[in-house]
Amino acid sequence: TEKILEINQLTTGFKAEKGWIRATDKVTLSLEKGKTVCLVGESGSGKSVTSHSIMRLIDYAGGTLLEGSILFHGENLAEKSQEEMRHIRGNRIAMIFQDPMSSLNPVFTVGEQIAESLRLHQKKSEKQAWKEAVDLLRMVGIPAPEVRAKQYPHEMSGGMCQRVVIAIALACRPELLIADEPTTALDVTVQAQILDLLRKLQKEIGMSILLITHDMGVAAEMADRIAVMYAGVIVEEGSVEEIFENPGHPYTLGLLKSIPGLEGERGNELYTIQGSIPSLGQLPSGCRFHPRCPHAMDICREKEPPSFQIGKDQRALCWLFDDQKQGSELEKRSER
Ligand code: SF4
Ligand code: MG
Repeated sequence: TEKILEINQLTTGFKAEKGWIRATDKVTLSLEKGKTVCLVGESGSGKSVTSHSIMRLIDYAGGTLLEGSILFHGENLAEKSQEEMRHIRGNRIAMIFQDPMSSLNPVFTVGEQIAESLRLHQKKSEKQAWKEAVDLLRMVGIPAPEVRAKQYPHEMSGGMCQRVVIAIALACRPELLIADEPTTALDVTVQAQILDLLRKLQKEIGMSILLITHDMGVAAEMADRIAVMYAGVIVEEGSVEEIFENPGHPYTLGLLKSIPGLEGERGNELYTIQGSIPSLGQLPSGCRFHPRCPHAMDICREKEPPSFQIGKDQRALCWLFDDQKQGSELEKRSER
């Protein structure tokens, strides 16, 4: 299978008084053609910094790529100029965000906005662009697309607007779609419709998706692979089956336990991971999860854990998987 995106050791820093704050620290992640990888974690874990770094939008937010590479079809995006990136963004890689309103222009009709994208990136004529804009609205499931194309964003619901944003993203037939919490602002029914739509469109045009979400339920539905991020690092990565059937990292376990209805047999009481994400400027020593970890050991406070292979396609940054401790860890895993 062809790797469309390969991120290696990506470290993005923000300059602070006492040096660099690393918002992502040696993030390594890859995505195969036509597949979906979900990047999961609480807010503040570095998911959006990762996606903005890939798109090099982080440059505009004051971030700097300190280390690592972002290979898109083997070309390193970390070394591209903004000029080159402008061509790649919106042409070969598209991005959609949580709030559709922030991506739409209130003073143009939705049809004009999609047509504009087609004119700009694909040099279509005005007439052809309008026709394709209407087709795209139909493709993303908007009823009466000829009528809707002439409406302004404020005349549409949040769910409809997100469909329009997806239509704009698809206008250029991207090979890669980066979706950052695309359904978080929408109600549950609309959320399910948008996720269905993304899956359907992915099949139709064969694009790869990097989906960023704080919601393990969304990841369960969408992902082929899952990468769990915590305080700037990927603490566990594996196939969706491995992560759900045999999670290794205590943080992943905590996220899974906090999904309503999944391990929620203990009544209405929803599990929450104790404590909160540390500030990136003041990371705890050793394992950055140790202040919140129910299994923390002495070594966890002293040394940062390396990445251990814990399943066929699964890795975790956790001392519980150190060979010397394997015996006791196996016991722990069977107790769960
Ligand atoms: Fe918990 Fe230690 Fe594993 Fe960190 S390394 S997640 S503190 S057991
Ligand atoms: Mg975010």
